[in-house]
This record gives sequence, structure tokens and C-alpha cells, in this order.
Amino acid sequence: AKVNGASAVRFYKPSMDAATRERSLLSIDLHHSIDRGELELFYQPQNDTLSRDIIGYEVLLRWRHPTRGMVSPVEFIPLAERTGFIQRLGDWVLETACREASSWAQPVRIAVNVAPAQLADVALPHRVRDILLQTGLPAERLELEITESGIIGDQQHALHIIRQLKAMGVKIAMDDYGTGYSSLSTLQNFPFDKIKIDRSFVDGIGRSRPAEAIVRSTIILARSLDIPVLAEGVETEEHMTFLRGEGCLQVQGYLFGKPQPLSDIKTAVMTAVEN
Ligand code: C2E
Ligand code: CA
Ligand code: CA
Ligand code: CA
Repeated sequence: AKVNGASAVRFYKPSMDAATRERSLLSIDLHHSIDRGELELFYQPQNDTLSRDIIGYEVLLRWRHPTRGMVSPVEFIPLAERTGFIQRLGDWVLETACREASSWAQPVRIAVNVAPAQLADVALPHRVRDILLQTGLPAERLELEITESGIIGDQQHALHIIRQLKAMGVKIAMDDYGTGYSSLSTLQNFPFDKIKIDRSFVDGIGRSRPAEAIVRSTIILARSLDIPVLAEGVETEEHMTFLRGEGCLQVQGYLFGKPQPLSDIKTAVMTAVEN
């Protein structure tokens, strides 16, 4: 206890208080971000490895803070998860993404990130169904990206929710594959429609033999399970050559496009395919 007392004194440094205060200020602002129209969806293309055609877009949330400028989701998503605001935020993302994509001439898929707290909510399938009905987006055009942390809590519950979503025609992708604690048993227990190889592994192509071995074996594993695999964080032609050679059929990364505002992808998605 004595030792704890001493470290507790060190723990409550003025700088720490400032950081805590800072977080709560940011969290108050975040709660107003929807009503103040500060949130925006960015879209990053996902491409066919061989034809390089765009097959879909991942939806990535952006927050334009009035004084701080662009705040990264790496900062505010965890904050929203801690305060419970993630439910409203997640709803807003789903509804806005489905509405925006429903008017595109190109019937490409959108991939929306779903936080663990959203997946834990029994109401998620009903909410998704309502949103699809309201916006008119066909269920097959919606893919939900979930991470392992979203399903390790109550596995049976998560499985139940995922089955309901899949029964509606919604696709389920496993995000950040390989970074969790038990990616293999997760693969065994959950019916994924896609596996996304985390960009930390793709980043090691050409530089790290272990990273290359992990990418290669993940592609083989996914193919033997008959699950499409997408590599994220593809930045160079060297990455492409390796991934193509190993039989990875889908890619996403700065080489093909950074996340962009809707206005910047409009020409790509609004033009109907000519025969
Ligand atoms: P994520 O789901 O793994 O998304 C991919 C992240 O990698 C995005 O960062 C994207 O901009 C970035 N990225 C894509 N290609 C490349 C590349 O070639 N090189 C590099 N260096 N980076 C690349 P972003 O947009 O900052 O998002 C960070 C994370 O925030 C996401 O990681 C996701 O976990 C979370 N996030 C973003 N939007 C949402 C959302 O609407 N809901 C939830 N729950 N989480 C979100
Ligand atoms: Ca993702
Ligand atoms: Ca990811
Ligand atoms: Ca990630």
C-alpha cells in the first residue's frame, strides 16, 4: 500500500490532469458533432488485383473540429467507445453511408466499420434492416467490417447477431486479420465472407520474411476456406507483385487511392457502366 501511495502521487501529475481534462473537453465536443454537422464520410477504393477495377469502397469517418481541425478516428473512436456515444455515432455512419451509396449509378459495395459495442447490441440487425429499407440500398451492397475484439466477449451472442445480418444478405468481413489473440479459432467459429489482411503485415513485404510468410499463409488459408481475401495498406508496386504472385485477388491502399470525400469519388461512382 505504501508503494502504491507513492506511485499514486506520481500518477496524479499536473500533466495527467491536463490530459484527462483534454479528453473530457473533446468528448463534450464529440457529443455535439452530429448535430453541428461536423462529421463526414470518406471513401477509400478497394480494387481487383488483376483488372485494377474498383470493386467497392471502405467508409472511413472524419471529424472536422471547428478549432482543432481534422481529428483522427484513432483518437475519437476510442473516446466514443468509452463514453457510450459509439452507438449514436455508429448509427449515423451506417445511415449516412447507405444513403449516400444508394444513389450511385455504380452498384459497388460499401464496407462499414462496426465497433464492438455496436455488435454487442441485440438491436443491430433490426437497425440495419430499417436503414436498408429507408435508404433502398440492397443488402448485398453492404459489408460490415468487424474486428476480433468485437466477438471475443460473448461469442454465442456475436454469432447470433452475425447470422441474422447474413440472413438479410449483408456481408461480414474480418478486419485486421492476424493482429488479434486467436485469429485462427475466430476463423473456425465465425462465417466470414471476407478476410482483410492487416496492413502491418503488408507493410513488411520486401523487408520482413516473417511478414511475407504470414501474408502468404493467410492467402493460402483463406483460399482453402473459400473465403475471399483482401490485403490492406497496399502502397507500392512491389506489394502488388508479391500479392498477385501469391494469389490475393483484392487490394486496398494508397497505391490506388487514399480515403477521399464523396465529392471526389462522384465521377467514379455516378457514371453508369457503358456497354
Ligand atoms: P481500419 O478499419 O483498419 O481502416 C484502415 C485505416 O488504414 C484507415 O485509417 C486508412 O486511411 C488507412 N490506410 C488505408 N490504406 C493505407 C495505406 O496504404 N497506407 C497507410 N499507411 N494507411 C492506409 P483511418 O481512416 O485513420 O482510420 C483508422 C481506424 O479508425 C480504422 O482502422 C478503424 O478502426 C477506425 N474507424 C474509422 N472509421 C470508423 C467508423 O466509421 N466506425 C468505427 N467503429 N471505426 C472507424
Ligand atoms: Ca476497417
Ligand atoms: Ca483494417
Ligand atoms: Ca487497423
